[in-house]
Amino acid sequence: MTYDWQAGLAFLAILIVATKGLKFLVFKVPALEATRLRNMELWAEKRAMEKYPPVMRATQKAGMVTNAVFVFLVCPFFVTLAPQPVWKILLDLAAILMFYDFVYYLTHRFLFHGQGYFRKMHALHHQARDPSYIDAHYVHPLETFIGVFLFVTSIPVMAMWLGPFHSVTVALAFLVFTQLNIINHCKIELPYFPFRTLSWITARHAVHHENMHKGNYATITLLYDKLFRTFS
Ligand SMILES: [Zn+2]
Ligand SMILES: [Zn+2]
Repeated sequence: MTYDWQAGLAFLAILIVATKGLKFLVFKVPALEATRLRNMELWAEKRAMEKYPPVMRATQKAGMVTNAVFVFLVCPFFVTLAPQPVWKILLDLAAILMFYDFVYYLTHRFLFHGQGYFRKMHALHHQARDPSYIDAHYVHPLETFIGVFLFVTSIPVMAMWLGPFHSVTVALAFLVFTQLNIINHCKIELPYFPFRTLSWITARHAVHHENMHKGNYATITLLYDKLFRTFS
């Protein structure tokens, strides 16, 4: 196990360029740009509510510190720039995301929706009965820490089994994780091709927000909800 700072830095650069590039391209599509503007209007309305800004600031800080520890102290030990075939990159990507989603499913279902302190903590996020973009950030900082911690821990755990991941693999995993956690809260009312899937994703998570007994606990795919019969 070596600290490969070049591969670590490459991961960060690829993630930043991919995120910015994706946003630039996606909002060239008129229907998606209109959706973005609608969500920004709702952002402004909700942000004016006293309860939003302090939670958003605290959750952003928790996320940034946890991510920074991973990026600089953990990630460089588990990434490489040595060439890998595309099939391995895609398989590793699926393995990281599916492993994380399983651990998150269990945590969300049994800890956040269980009894006691963690249920109260998670209830803050569930205050958003009609979620939109801003509600992806209306999360208790401890919950943000737990969520990001589970995700970033999935990477070394899976790397110990599958060998070091290419910087591209980890960047793509981060991109999917971050963007899906935002997209599933957005108000997207485009029930026609090719946006049908986006609307479906947001509708499923909106059902989860309606009350704390409705299921849909997974966040990357709802496969585990279907498997364990908590899909609605
Ligand atoms: Zn949510
Ligand atoms: Zn929940």
